[in-house]
Amino acid sequence: MKKNLILVLNCGSSSLKFSLIRPENGETLLSGLAERLLSEQASIKIKVRGQKNHRALPRPFDHQTAIMTLVETLALQQLNLQIFAIGHRVVHGGEHYCMPTLVTEEVKNTINNLSQLAPLHNPANLIGINAAEAVFNDVPQVAVFDTAFHQTMPEKAYIYGIPYSLYQEHGIRRYGFHGTSHYFVAQQAAKILDKAINKSNFISAHLGNGCSVTAIKNGESVDTSLGLTPLEGVMMGTRSGDVDPGIIFHLINQLGYTAAQVSHLLHKESGLLGVSGLSNDCREIEESWLTNKNPRAKLALDIFCYRVAKSIASFTASLTSIDALIFTGGIGENSTLIRAGIIGQLSLLNFFVANDKNQACCFGKAGNINTDISRPILVIPTNEEWVIAEQTSQLLSNNTSIKE
Ligand code: AMP
Repeated sequence: MKKNLILVLNCGSSSLKFSLIRPENGETLLSGLAERLLSEQASIKIKVRGQKNHRALPRPFDHQTAIMTLVETLALQQLNLQIFAIGHRVVHGGEHYCMPTLVTEEVKNTINNLSQLAPLHNPANLIGINAAEAVFNDVPQVAVFDTAFHQTMPEKAYIYGIPYSLYQEHGIRRYGFHGTSHYFVAQQAAKILDKAINKSNFISAHLGNGCSVTAIKNGESVDTSLGLTPLEGVMMGTRSGDVDPGIIFHLINQLGYTAAQVSHLLHKESGLLGVSGLSNDCREIEESWLTNKNPRAKLALDIFCYRVAKSIASFTASLTSIDALIFTGGIGENSTLIRAGIIGQLSLLNFFVANDKNQACCFGKAGNINTDISRPILVIPTNEEWVIAEQTSQLLSNNTSIKE
C-alpha cells in the first residue's frame, strides 16, 4: 500500500483541526474538528467521503483522545496505513525557522521557548505534537511555521523604532503571521498570471477573523502588517490592530485598568466587535447595516475598509511594481461589500472593482474582480492545509523516498 498521505494538524488550546491530504493535488480525503477539549462538552466532527459524523468524546476529553478517535475512523476507512507523515501548523518559529522542520526533541524545546512570544498558540501547538507522537509513534512529524514566510523581510521592515537592545537581547521585532496563507495565494496568483513566482510582486490581504496585509517582492515577503504578536496592523474581528501606544498608558494610569485588562480589551473586545457593539462576525455586521441601517455597524465596516486600504497603500513603499492585489481569508474570499469598500479607496493606485465580477467571486470561487482599466485584483481562496501537506511531504521526500 502506498504511504503518501499527510495528516495535517492545527492544534489550539481547546480545539484540534485536522485534514488528511494528498499532497500532490491537495485532495482532502478526510477532515474535521474536535472542539471544547478538556471539558465535559468535548466533541468531534469528522467528514469523510462527504459523510459527516459528530459525536461526544470520551474521558479524559483531551487532545490525545481526539487523535485516538480520529485514528479509529482512519482505520475503519483503511486510511491509517497510508499516512506518510504528520504536518503541524506551528504559529511562532521566531528567527530559528524559515523552513518546514522535522520535529525532534530540540525543535520541541525551541517551540516551547518561543511560547514567550506566542503564549496562546505555541503551547497548544506543542500539545498537538506530543499527542500525535504518542498515538503515531513511528510516523515522522514536521512543523510548518506561520512566521516562516516572513523571515525574508529586510531589517528596516522588522526592527521597531525602540532601543535596538530590545531586539538583540529579547528578540523584540516584527515576525508576522499568516505566512502559509500569503505564500499559498502568491503561488496561485503567479500561476493565474502565468508569471514566474520569483519575478512576481503582490500585495496580499488575508482578511478573516485575524487579518494581515503583506507586500511580496519577487515571490518573497518584504513587509507585513502583523508584528511581534498578532495584534498589530489592520483592525480585525476582536483585535484592535494599530492604536496609539499612549492609549495603553492612559487606560492604566488614568482609568485604572490592569495590564491583563488592557490585553483582554485589545485582543478580545476591540475590532469589528468593539466598534459595532454587535459581533466580531462580518456577516452579522453587514446584515445589521443592510437590513436595519445600524450606524455603528456601518462605522465598523467603514473603519475596517479604510484601515485595510491604508495598509495596502502603505505597502506600495516596499515595491517598485505590482502585478496584483490579492484578497483571501473568510472576509476577503466572500464579502463583496468589504472588497468594494477597500478597492473604492485605492483609485489613486489604479485599482477599480468590476461589480459583476466582484459579485461572482464568492464561496470558494477564485477569479479577478478588476475592471479593464484597473491593475489586476484577484480573489484566491486560501488553503493552508495543502501547503502544510505539500511542504511536509517535500521535506521528507528529499530525505527518504516515499515507502511502498
Ligand atoms: P476566517 O477567520 O478566515 O474563517 O474568516 C472568518 C470571517 O469571515 C468572519 O468574520 C465571517 O463573518 C467572514 N465571512 C465568511 N463568509 C462571509 C460572507 N459571505 N460575507 C461576509 N463575511 C463573511
